Amino acid sequence: MTLARKTAHELRELYRAGSATPDQTVAELKSRIAAKDGRLNCYVGFDAAGSGVRRNVPQDRPLWGVPVAIKDNICVEGQEATCASKILKGYVAPYNATATERLLEAGAILLGRANMDEFAFGSSCESSCYGPTRNPWDAERVPGGSSGGSAASVAADLAIASLGSDTGGSIRQPASFCGVVGLKPTYGRVSRYGLIAFASSLDQIGPFTKDVRDCALLTSVLAGYDPKDSTSADVPVPDYLSEIGKSVKGLRVGLPEEYFGKGIQPEVEAAVRSAIEKLRALGVEVRPVSLPHTKYAVSVYYLVAPSECSSNLARFDGVRFGRRSEGARNLLEMYERSRGEGFGAEARRRIVLGTFALSSGYYDAYYLRAMRVRTLIRRDFEEAFKEVDALVTPTSPSAAFKIGEKSADPIQMYLSDIYTISANLAGVPALSMPCGLAQGLPVGLQLIAKPFDEQALFRLGSALERELAFPRSAAREAA
Ligand code: GLN
Repeated sequence: MTLARKTAHELRELYRAGSATPDQTVAELKSRIAAKDGRLNCYVGFDAAGSGVRRNVPQDRPLWGVPVAIKDNICVEGQEATCASKILKGYVAPYNATATERLLEAGAILLGRANMDEFAFGSSCESSCYGPTRNPWDAERVPGGSSGGSAASVAADLAIASLGSDTGGSIRQPASFCGVVGLKPTYGRVSRYGLIAFASSLDQIGPFTKDVRDCALLTSVLAGYDPKDSTSADVPVPDYLSEIGKSVKGLRVGLPEEYFGKGIQPEVEAAVRSAIEKLRALGVEVRPVSLPHTKYAVSVYYLVAPSECSSNLARFDGVRFGRRSEGARNLLEMYERSRGEGFGAEARRRIVLGTFALSSGYYDAYYLRAMRVRTLIRRDFEEAFKEVDALVTPTSPSAAFKIGEKSADPIQMYLSDIYTISANLAGVPALSMPCGLAQGLPVGLQLIAKPFDEQALFRLGSALERELAFPRSAAREAA
């Protein structure tokens, strides 16, 4: 067992030198999955259709022969895409998402579909209709969510890299809980075409990887304009890989005071602060900044996201999309039963909240006001970025919590997104990377940059990563 442990860039070198083949990597991963995934439950399906690989891709393509996992809400032609929801069981994607297409063109091998919270609603991967994914570092704990399967598969060496989606932290928070690197790109940087929509003004697809270099590599494959997504941005894609290993001397980073202090687990704060000292030692100038509207972010998010999801999920009514309930006597009853039986508890809660917030008479008081405060949150970032090149924060106030610990209390669950949702509301790119341990569990550090400045994240992240020597191997041993 060695190839399963490699990064994508290491595999490339091995393939180039003729010392390994993609078939060997796939075989190793498959035998590891057979041994470990019964317990971890990272995967919800494998590539039975053969659509997860493209023949005759030249070997010089950037992800040639690299096996990856794809979150179950990103379409792969000919394979199921269920969003881990009963209502979409049996739905087969008729086309590839643009992100899928780009991976295939780059030579990647799509191993299988990764588990998630139902419709990406959640922070723990417990609301999946396939049962929870477990954290490879400690199987009694959650991997984070919603992209829990994507994060855990990479942490446990059951995939070399993976794709997730991030609406309010669903890439960064699980990356932090599982000790891997995860990026939410700038809104518009990566096409959302073929991503089953949760909240269209917040959703972004992004990669999970074992190190920052791989994160830059996958992002360079995924990023770029797509005429099929009207919100995709026509902004040139810089050479992300050239940022790896560059000096960070003289860069300025800000520590938002609102992200430290009350409510944070002390060991998490200690790990993040000690990483910040490492940045300082590399010549980075560290200064305090303020994002004063942060205190409204959770409230704003939990109006905007459910509102948009209530509209996006209207299509799952048993007519064209979604499983149809048998035995209804009329159309209305068919809708009611199909939706009532198909959606889980959290999905129903959000549809109700969102429908209420958008309803006539309440729209101005809730949705419209939330959108106004959202603008204030975005302006906070614009102000901060006049002073600094990037912000550094913890990714999550705690390390991975226990399975069942928060599932009965939605407010506690929602609060675990407190440091991640602002980046979605503001549309800015943010990366989570492991920076240390809290009682033996990984702690994530979040770097946030200006729109379309993912370069700063890769430059700072790779410099810091070299200083930290994070013990990634602990996850694969525990798994
Ligand atoms: N945990 C957040 C939520 O429940 C974010 C989810 C996500 O980013 N998809 O909405």
